Amino acid sequence: MRDAITLACTECKRRNYMSSRNKKKNTEKLEVKKYCAFCRTHTVHKETK
Ligand SMILES: [Zn+2]
Repeated sequence: MRDAITLACTECKRRNYMSSRNKKKNTEKLEVKKYCAFCRTHTVHKETK
C-alpha cells in the first residue's frame, strides 16, 4: 500500500508537490530538497497531512 502525501516548502509553507511513499520503507517524515516556485529556489520540502 502506498500513502498519498503532500510536500510543503519549509520556507513559505506552500504545498508544492504531491507524492506517494511506501509506508513500510519510510516511517519517518519525508524530507526532500525541491524547487519551490514561490521561493524561486531549492528548499527543503516536508511531508504534511
Ligand atoms: Zn517556498
